[in-house]
Amino acid sequence: MDERIREILFIYALENAVRHGNVPNAKAVMGKVLGARPDLRPHAKEIPAILTEVLAEVGAIPHEEWKGRLEGLAPDLIVADTGKKERKKDLPTLEETDGGVVMRFAPNPSGPLHLGHARAAFLNDAYVRRYGGRYVLRIEDTDPRRVDPEAYRMVPEDIEWMGLSITEIVYQSDRMDIYYEHCRQLIEQGGCYVCTCDAEYFRDLKLAKKPCPCRSQTVEENLALWDRMLSGGFAEGQVTVRVKTDLEHPDPAIRDFSIFRIVDAPAHPRISGTRVYPLMNFSVVVDDHLLGITHVIRGKDHIANTRRQRYIYDYFGWKPPVYRHYGRMGIEGVVLSTSSMREGIIEGTYTGWDDIHLGTLRAIARRGILPEAVRNAMLEIGIGETDISFSWENLFAQNKALIDESSDRFFFVPDPVTVTVADAPAAVAEIPRYPGNAERGVRTLAFSGTVVLPQGETTGADLVRLKDLFNIRIGAGDRASYAGDDLAAVRAVKAPIIQWMPEGYGIPCTVRTPEGDVSGLCEPDVANFEGRTVQFERFGFVRIDSAGPDGVFCYFTHR
Ligand code: GLU
Repeated sequence: MDERIREILFIYALENAVRHGNVPNAKAVMGKVLGARPDLRPHAKEIPAILTEVLAEVGAIPHEEWKGRLEGLAPDLIVADTGKKERKKDLPTLEETDGGVVMRFAPNPSGPLHLGHARAAFLNDAYVRRYGGRYVLRIEDTDPRRVDPEAYRMVPEDIEWMGLSITEIVYQSDRMDIYYEHCRQLIEQGGCYVCTCDAEYFRDLKLAKKPCPCRSQTVEENLALWDRMLSGGFAEGQVTVRVKTDLEHPDPAIRDFSIFRIVDAPAHPRISGTRVYPLMNFSVVVDDHLLGITHVIRGKDHIANTRRQRYIYDYFGWKPPVYRHYGRMGIEGVVLSTSSMREGIIEGTYTGWDDIHLGTLRAIARRGILPEAVRNAMLEIGIGETDISFSWENLFAQNKALIDESSDRFFFVPDPVTVTVADAPAAVAEIPRYPGNAERGVRTLAFSGTVVLPQGETTGADLVRLKDLFNIRIGAGDRASYAGDDLAAVRAVKAPIIQWMPEGYGIPCTVRTPEGDVSGLCEPDVANFEGRTVQFERFGFVRIDSAGPDGVFCYFTHR
């Protein structure tokens, strides 16, 4: 067993060293190991002595070899190399993390996940990775009106794409009896009551800080009403269960808030035989407690919920998790509302959940943005309380840093026009697949008199350079003439350097951009890059979505 413990400690010490760039302290490693490996807890006494030796061993390994060693031992523990920039803006530490953390990502399955979800998902994930522990995916599906059966498939797909370190998945729809049982307990403790008041009437009383008549019902009366609720004795809208709060609470929305209600329709895809559904604040508290959630990182829009939830913790005598509420994040330029997305798809405005105009993760992925880029962008945004707007530029910069080297270069000629170049020598352009790296090979484009050029860049132009070939002077109609091979001459007059292709060589290519489709011709080899990103020189990165007899179809990634 000693050897086994040693090996595990070695891995975690190495992981910590890689992440922080120096030899870790024993306490940090110990906390992480015990959090991540509950099986080692019985050996907690033996660990410090072994750990001291292990840390000396790690310290003796040259720093530049740490990552390679870790890759060999536990590649899963390597978080994408986020470079110096992220280290500068490392997430703040959380309190009460000794022994690891238990955190959760708790989306409603009303559609696929979008960039807003990614923030909560990646931030919680980063802390679980930092401190070790469990990461629960909790599907919050107790509102039948906000459940899309398809989301039960899409949400896990999105989680997989993000590469979250989820350790378990919990469906709230499997836990209805647990919620009922706890509601009964709360009634018995006098912490809540079944309210049959008309909604308007209750609201008026609430605004006047006055109790409603139901508030003074006895426990027996409440239990009888609760049983009647469960056995179908009320219709939707007739009844609700309310937590007794401070009726003087400055926020009226907190005064005696509801925790259960009846929903007649639609039917729930995973729940049958009941129409009594817990509201979020109740199911979230019961689950956070029973699942042992230690830390909750969520948006500021949940602050009022946190206040409500504390009442429930207090009644049950439970310790609430540590909360952090981050500021709002505006995301411009894409649609994020699930209902607008769904409507648009039904109406045909959008091609599907991965339409380029949507902010879903599947749309982002289809464009060729890597999950690591989204992770890096979200970690950089962090958990600050200030409201911010999401920076697409930063996401694109993060992504470019990740894909640049693996993206081969090609020519793409949008809106091609055919031009015959008079007096030009036959020539063959050999263009590197990746600038400055001859080992990656070259593409060969042979010039034999007639070329296709991008219309937008030839109309009205005089001198232009065909990239990696020679200069031409644009004439009338479809004519041009050879203008030598002097790159300096072109630079001196700031003449454009443009894409070109031999006539009859390129294959049809459509690039889908948020502003519309751009059609043209691209080098034939592009068809072999399906599912990958390439860079169309001077145009931008694109992800090749499909390639077939009709040509290539791609999504614009970024410049
Ligand atoms: N399901 C809730 C939401 O998506 C999250 C609940 C929570 O974080 O407490 O807004």
